[in-house]
Amino acid sequence: MSTTTEPTAFAGVGVSAGRVIGPVRRMPEPLAPPADGAPLPDGASAEAESERLTAATQAVAANLKERAAHATGDAAAVLKATALMAADRTLLKSATRLVASGTSAESAIWEAADAVATQLTALGGYMAERATDVLDVRARIVAELRGVPAPGIPDADEPFVLWAVDLAPADTATLDPTKVRALVTSDGGPQSHTAIIARALGLPAVVAATGTEALADGDLVFVDGIDGAIVRNPGSAEEQLAEAYANRAELPAFDGAGRLADGTEVPLLSNVGSGEDAVAAAAANAQGVGLLRTEFCFLGKDTEPDHEEQVAAYRAVFEQFPGRKVVVRTLDAGADKPLPFLTDDSEPNPALGVRGYRTDLATPGVLSRQLAAIADAAEATAADVWTMAPMISTPAEAERFAALCAEAGLKTPGVMVEVPSAAVLAPQLLQRVEFASIGTNDLTQYTMAADRQLGALAELNDPWQPAVLHLIRTTCDGGAAASGRPAPKPVGVCGEAAADPALAVVLVGLGVATLSMNRRALPAVAAILRTVDAATARRLADLALAAGSATEAKAAVRAELPDLDRFGL
Ligand code: PEP
Ligand code: MG
Repeated sequence: MSTTTEPTAFAGVGVSAGRVIGPVRRMPEPLAPPADGAPLPDGASAEAESERLTAATQAVAANLKERAAHATGDAAAVLKATALMAADRTLLKSATRLVASGTSAESAIWEAADAVATQLTALGGYMAERATDVLDVRARIVAELRGVPAPGIPDADEPFVLWAVDLAPADTATLDPTKVRALVTSDGGPQSHTAIIARALGLPAVVAATGTEALADGDLVFVDGIDGAIVRNPGSAEEQLAEAYANRAELPAFDGAGRLADGTEVPLLSNVGSGEDAVAAAAANAQGVGLLRTEFCFLGKDTEPDHEEQVAAYRAVFEQFPGRKVVVRTLDAGADKPLPFLTDDSEPNPALGVRGYRTDLATPGVLSRQLAAIADAAEATAADVWTMAPMISTPAEAERFAALCAEAGLKTPGVMVEVPSAAVLAPQLLQRVEFASIGTNDLTQYTMAADRQLGALAELNDPWQPAVLHLIRTTCDGGAAASGRPAPKPVGVCGEAAADPALAVVLVGLGVATLSMNRRALPAVAAILRTVDAATARRLADLALAAGSATEAKAAVRAELPDLDRFGL
C-alpha cells in the first residue's frame, strides 16, 4: 500500500464506461517453470518431499472446492472441474513416483502434469480442452509449494479493482463481476482481450494506464472508464463522480427496434462467435447478426473442419434468427487470429501479411468449401444469410469474392471495409457487391498504422480518430453512389466502435445504416440513439470530423449527449 495519502493521477485509455472506487488487487506474476528434473532440495528426503507434495495438492483441491461452493454458473463449473483435477490420484501418483526417484516436488508435478496434458490433447475434442485444467492445477500446486500467490484472478472477500499487465482469455474464465469492480491494465489497447471482456461484463476499465505498475495491493483507487483516468487516494471530487455513477438511471432493456428520436430506423444487430452466443443474442432482442465470426469453427484445429461439421456449426447460429439477417464473415485467419493450417508464422509483419481473404491466394479451396457449407446451412434454415469477406483491398478482390459466392449459390455477397484502400474505392467495390460492413478495429489499425494489439499505441488505435471517421464517411458516400435494389447499397459497422453509444450516434450521422455489436451493448446504444434525430446525428458527425484529435472529437460529441451521464455511460 502507498505511504502518501495525496491523490496521484494516472492516465490511460477508457475502454468500458463507469466510475468506481475500490482497493487494488494485483494479478499475480505468471509462475516461472521449475528446472527440468531438478533434484530433491538439499537435505530433504524423498518421503518428506512426497508429503510436502501431497499436502500442497490437498490444499489446492480444498481451496478450489471452497471457492466453487461460493461461485455460480460458469465460474462454479470451471472451479469444480479444476478442483477435481487437483484431487486426481493418477496425477499425484505419477508425480510421487518421480519424487521417489530423486526429483523435487515442483519438477515432479510439472513433468507429471505435462504428460497428462499431452495425452488429453492427443485425445482431441472435450478431453483436449481438459488439458488446460491440468496445467492450471499444476501452476496452483507449484505456487503452493513455493508459498507464492496462485496465478489467475486473485481471490478476495471484498470487491476489488483488478490490476494486471494485460488479461489473457484464460484469466477471464473465472472473473466474477460481483467481486471485480473495475479493470486497470498497464498494457493492452481498445481491442485487447481485457477491453472486450470488460465491455462484455459491463465493468469499468482503463487500459494502457502508464505508471500504474506502481499500484500496490490495498491502494484505494478511483477508476474512470469514461475519461480514462485512475486516481490513487481519491478525494471528494472523485467520490462525487463515483456516487453519481452508482446512482445512474437504469437502462431499459433493448426492445428489438433500433431507431432515432424521429423514428429513423437503425437496425441494431449482434456480433456472434458461437452457437451459444447466437442464443444469447436472440434472447437480447438483437435484430439479427451483423458479424458472425466463423473462426470459432476453425480455431484450435490443426486441420480444416469438414463440410458436415461446418454446416452444423453455422446452422446452430442461423436457426436462432428465422426471417432475420445473419451476416457471415468468411474465415479471417492470420495476424491476431493465427491458424496452423492456413497461416505462415514466419511472416515478418503478420498484420500486413497473408490474412483474411488473402489466405485464399496462398491456400485456395478452403474459402470455396466454407462458402459451400454456409450455403447448405442457409438452405436448411429460414435465416436471411448474407456473406462477406474480411480484408478486401481492391475492387478485383470484391468481384472475385462475389463470383465465388454466386458459384456457391449465395445471393448477397459483401465486403468488409477494414483497409483504407477499400474505403477510398468504396464506390467501385460496392458496384461489385451488395453491401459493405466496416470493421473499425482493423480500419483504425491500418489507417493509423498502429498495431491493434500494442498497448503503447492505444491512443492512436482509437476509432474516434478523425481520420478514421473521414474514411467511414467516404465508405458511406460510396454506398450511396452505388445504387442497389431498391436503394443505395447499405453500409454497416461491426467493429467495437458500434458498441460505444456516443460514437454510434456519430456513425449514424456519417451515413451508417446498421450497427452490430456485442449483445450487452444493445441497451446502451439503443437508449442513446433514441435521444437524437437524424439532423442532430449529422451535426454531431460533422463536429467529430472537424476535431483535431480523437480526444477532442469524443469530448465535443459527448458534451452534446447529456443522457450519457444520466445512464452512467
Ligand atoms: C474489425 O476489424 O473491426 C472486425 C470486426 O473484425 P475483427 O475484430 O474480428 O478483426
Ligand atoms: Mg477485422
